[in-house]
Amino acid sequence: MHLNNEVIILGGGLSGLSMAYNLVKVCGLKPIVIEAGDRFGGLLKTVEKNGFLFDVGGSHILFSRDKNILKELLYFLKDNYIQHYRNTYIYYWNKRFIKYPFENGIYMLDPIERYEILKDIIELVVKREKDVLKKPRNLLEWFYYVFGKAISEKYLIPYNLKLWKRDLREISLEWVGDRVPQPPLDDIIKSAVGIPTEGYKHQLIFYYPIRGGIYALIEGILDHLLKDSLDLRLKEKAVSITLDEDRVFIETTKGEYKARYVVSTIPVPELIKITRNTEGELKRYVRELDYNSLLVIGIGAKTSIKNMHWIYFPQEDIVFHRIAFLSNYSPYMAPQDRASIIAEISINPRENSSPNINSLVSKTINDLEDLGIIERGSVETIVTQFWKYAYIVYNHSHRKTMKYITAYYRRYNVFLTGRFGLWEYSNMDKVWVMAKELSNKICSILNKVA
Ligand SMILES: Cc1cc2nc3c(=O)[nH]c(=O)nc-3n(C[C@H](O)[C@H](O)[C@H](O)COP(=O)(O)OP(=O)(O)OC[C@H]3O[C@@H](n4cnc5c(N)ncnc54)[C@H](O)[C@@H]3O)c2cc1C
Repeated sequence: MHLNNEVIILGGGLSGLSMAYNLVKVCGLKPIVIEAGDRFGGLLKTVEKNGFLFDVGGSHILFSRDKNILKELLYFLKDNYIQHYRNTYIYYWNKRFIKYPFENGIYMLDPIERYEILKDIIELVVKREKDVLKKPRNLLEWFYYVFGKAISEKYLIPYNLKLWKRDLREISLEWVGDRVPQPPLDDIIKSAVGIPTEGYKHQLIFYYPIRGGIYALIEGILDHLLKDSLDLRLKEKAVSITLDEDRVFIETTKGEYKARYVVSTIPVPELIKITRNTEGELKRYVRELDYNSLLVIGIGAKTSIKNMHWIYFPQEDIVFHRIAFLSNYSPYMAPQDRASIIAEISINPRENSSPNINSLVSKTINDLEDLGIIERGSVETIVTQFWKYAYIVYNHSHRKTMKYITAYYRRYNVFLTGRFGLWEYSNMDKVWVMAKELSNKICSILNKVA
């Protein structure tokens, strides 16, 4: 017998839980949440080992351009959060730390490099005035177009090659939008002549839980959902979905359900894989959904770096592209005089679908020791977590592909949302906004607006 419910949510990460919270709040709907993992939260996962806490979904901080949205998210943490002024660097060649974003840290470079950058920017402005600059068609061309040759080749291109692990011409301009900070010209000039400035300002002040790591946010939301006696199911994986005229049938590893509306926050390729009665075309679209995986390595060790938040590494011979000092976000993330550090290594599944984790861990520790970031021989604890889906790749067919897929499912009352559900590069604030908007929509369709 199928368990019947008006709305079923697939996936209990931040998106799924935000949907559940908002459906209750907007119109009192009580959806069932089905989560495959053994805990809720998806990427927002904090693991404790030997007194160290690691956010094993990668470094997560709370920030937003929209103060109200930020406030709504912080509400779930009650008083359990701390405010930080970002102190973040790029590890530059010749063992120097340059302030992030790079274009605001130019003042820390040698005069000859500052001159190169400034000259380049002036030439760029002149070309723009004369209208002789070719409009960019992809990420690589966009870097040259916006930042000029020097900044692009010194940092942006090597770093992005390391993060994306593919030809940057494969990435469309759809991706750049808000995500790659576009600096005011004034900032670059000031920085080049030696005046410090700040960039990517909506992230300059950020927030982090005092206790419990980023998972504290999930705990805060769960508190509300449990008070509302919501049906939240763990260790239950959706394995089959059948689309019908006015009902969606879902089979999980534990039972069978039917719903009028389904909200899917699970990765789109997985949803398509388990959808039974689809057109061949939908299956063909899966091939267009490009992504990168991520290995996160948590390391408990000793460090003398007590004030930095995170560091980017554009160098090819250093294994990770970013490390974060979680114990500098909150001292409760590690025992006294120890540090909780996470290293992030992005992996292109087309090149490497089953990375050798042991060898990447050894290389990470060696690199951290050689760079002088951790004290040699001081590693006490190691934790690893591999994420198949981490970074959405905005290839040139991204928009068309997702337009087709969302419209297809929408016809059968299956709504897609979330970072992997909608296949978008969304941060927590965006995920929350999308959940609010979709809840309003579903409530109004059901004529239940409060
Ligand atoms: C490295 C990294 C760093 C980030 N840093 C930040 C940051 O600093 N600030 C910020 O705001 N955002 C950050 N983000 C973005 C943030 O992680 C996401 O916006 C958010 O976690 C997405 O939540 P989600 O629920 O959409 O996806 P997920 O967290 O992936 O949740 C999806 C859930 O679906 C479940 N699932 C999958 N398949 C099935 C199935 N068949 N049946 C049932 N359940 C299933 C999964 O187990 C998972 O729990 C970062 C992301 C990454 C990768």
